[in-house]
Amino acid sequence: MPTDSRTSVSDPLIAEAVHRVWGFDSLRPMQELAINAGVEGRDCLTVLPTGGGKSLCYQVPALVTGKVTIVASPLIALMRDQVRGLELNGYGAAALHSGVEPEEAREIITKAFDGSINLIFAAPERLVTPGFKTILASLHDADRLGGIAIDEAHCISQWGHDFRPEFRRLKELRAVAPGIGMQAFTATATPRVRDDIVEQLGLVDAEVLVGTFDRPNLCYRVQSRNKTADQVAEAVRRHRSVGDSGGTIVYCLSRKDTETLAQELIEHGLDADAYHAGLSEKKRMSVEQAFLNETLDVVVATVAFGMGIDRSNVRLVVHATMPKSVEAYQQETGRAGRDGEPAECLLLYSPSDAGRWERLIGFGAEESGADPAGQLRLIREMRTMIASMGCRHQALSEYFGQELAIDPEVGCKACDVCLGETEVEHDSTKVAQVLMSVVARTGQRYGAAHVCDVARGSKGEKVLSRGHDELAVHGLLGSYSKAQLSMYLDQLISIGALERVVEDRFETLRFGELGVSVMKGVGDVVLSNPIGTGSASKERVRGQKSGREAIVLDMDERVLFERLRGLRTSIAQERGVPPYVVFSDATLRALVKDRPTNRIEMLRVKGIGQAKLDAFGDVFLEALSQDV
Ligand code: ADP
Ligand code: ZN
Repeated sequence: MPTDSRTSVSDPLIAEAVHRVWGFDSLRPMQELAINAGVEGRDCLTVLPTGGGKSLCYQVPALVTGKVTIVASPLIALMRDQVRGLELNGYGAAALHSGVEPEEAREIITKAFDGSINLIFAAPERLVTPGFKTILASLHDADRLGGIAIDEAHCISQWGHDFRPEFRRLKELRAVAPGIGMQAFTATATPRVRDDIVEQLGLVDAEVLVGTFDRPNLCYRVQSRNKTADQVAEAVRRHRSVGDSGGTIVYCLSRKDTETLAQELIEHGLDADAYHAGLSEKKRMSVEQAFLNETLDVVVATVAFGMGIDRSNVRLVVHATMPKSVEAYQQETGRAGRDGEPAECLLLYSPSDAGRWERLIGFGAEESGADPAGQLRLIREMRTMIASMGCRHQALSEYFGQELAIDPEVGCKACDVCLGETEVEHDSTKVAQVLMSVVARTGQRYGAAHVCDVARGSKGEKVLSRGHDELAVHGLLGSYSKAQLSMYLDQLISIGALERVVEDRFETLRFGELGVSVMKGVGDVVLSNPIGTGSASKERVRGQKSGREAIVLDMDERVLFERLRGLRTSIAQERGVPPYVVFSDATLRALVKDRPTNRIEMLRVKGIGQAKLDAFGDVFLEALSQDV
C-alpha cells in the first residue's frame, strides 16, 4: 500500500508560501502540479479524493502571483468556514453571498484591487450576474485577476451525484476574462464526469491531474447487521476507549430510520441527534453547527447530511444500510479522516438491503418513467464489492480504475479482510459445490432467494410446486441462515463461478466461466463471513486498533491532548469558528508528541504557520508547559 508519500516542494516561492501560511513542509503528490498550473494560468482539472488537499491547490497560486483568484463554490457554509480558516492563517480572503451587505461587498472588491485579499469565494449564480461580470472584467483590465477556480466541479455534470444546472453558466466567464486560466476541482472519480467537466467549462488543452483514490488512513470494515444500535454503540465506544474523541456520522436509508436509531443511541448513553431533509431549516442548522463545534458527537443522518460538513476530525462513518452505489460509499466514507489521521468506515450489511433498494428504485422508476437498469446495476456492483472478501482498499481502487499494489503477506493493515477479522467458512468447498449444484439442478433459471430456499430445505410453496424438494441437494445446507448463503452466492458471483442475469427486473443465476470447475471441486474456493455473522468474532472486534499506524498516544499524552482540545474549543468559541479551523487534530497530536518549548520549535510543528503562531502560540506553549 502506498504511504501518504509527499514530495518536498521544488519551487521556492511555493515552498515559502506553504510553510509560512500553513506550516506545511511538503506538498502531496499532485498538489504542486495543480498549483503550478494555477500560477502559470493554465486550464486544469484536478481530481483528488476528499481530504486530498484540493483547497490548497487554489489557495496558493494567488499568494505566489500576488493577484486574486475567484473561487466558485456551491455552499455558503463551506465558504464561510474556509474564509475564517484562511484569515486565521493570515491569508486575505472573503466570500460574496446573499448574506453580505452591499457596502461590505464594495469593500471586498476594493480590497481585491488594492491587493489586501487574494481569494474571493462566490456561488456560481452570483459570478454570472452582469454586475459581477463587470467587476471581473475590470479586475482583469487592471491585471489583478490571477485565475478562476471551480470547487466541487462535478456539480456541473448531470452524471455526477450533485447536479446543479447553475454551474453550466460558468463557461460564460471565459469571454469576460480572456486568457485567464480555469482550474476545476472534484473528488468524483468517473471518467464520464471528468470529460463532462472539461467540456462544460470549455477548458482548453486542460491538464488533467488524477490523484490516488486510495485513502490509506481509512480502515474499512463490513459487519453483518444484527442489532444496529448495539453495533453502532460498540463501535463508538471502541473509539472512545483508545482516546479518540472525534465525531461519528451514521448514515441511514430513511428519515424514520435516522430518528429511531438516534433515539436508541441516546438510550445507549451516547450524545446523538438525527438529521434529514424533512426537519425544519432551523433544526438542521442547529444539528450541523453542534456537530461542527464538537458539542454533538454522533449525527444519525440520511445522505442529505454531508456536503457542507467540513469537520476534519470525523473518526467514524457508519453505514447502517448498504449505500446505493460504490460511488456513494466512497463519497460518504470520504467524510471520515479528512485530516489524514486514522479513521474507520463501518458498513453494517444485510443481504436484504439490496432488496430494499431494488424496491425503492422500482417505485421511483414507476413514478418517473425512467429506466432503472443503471441504478440496479450500481446496486449489484456494491453488493459484489461487499461480498468479494478481498482487500477492500484494493477493491475500491480497482472499481475506480486504479491498481493498488498490496503485499499479500502484510495486507493493507486497514481493512477487515487484511486484518483477518473475517471468519473463513471451514466447509467452503462443500458449501460452494452444493450451491452450484442447486443452481444446476434447478435449470439455471432461479434467483438467489430460491436457490437458498432449496439448499436450506424449505418446504415453501414455490419449492414444492416445482418439485425442488425432491432434488438430492434439497436441504443439504439446512444449518445455514439465508443471509449467510446469500452472501456466499454473492461471493461465488464475485469469483466468476456464477453470473447474474437480469431480465425484466428479475434476477436469475447461471454458471459463469469458472462454474463447472467450482462445482467439481477443482481449485480452492474460500468463502468467508464478515464480522458479526458468528458469535465468536465479537471479542476480536473489541481488541482491534482502528486505522493504521496512528500516532498512538499513551495515557499521559491523552490527558495532554484533551487539555489542548479544551483550549482549542474555548478559543474557537471566543472567535466564533469551528474548532478544527483553529488547529486540526493532527496538529494537536503533533504538539503532544513534539512538546515544543519555544516559538521556534513550535513553528516546526506541522499545521502551524506564522499567523497561528502569533495568535495562539503563547497560550498553547503555556498549556504544554504545565505538568500532566
Ligand atoms: P479536500 O478539499 O480535497 O477535501 P482539504 O483541502 O480540506 O481537502 O484538505 C484536507 C486536510 O489536509 C486539511 O486538514 C489540510 O490542512 C490538510 N492538508 C492539505 N495539504 C496538506 C499538506 N501538503 N501537508 C499536510 N496537510 C495538508
Ligand atoms: Zn486490505
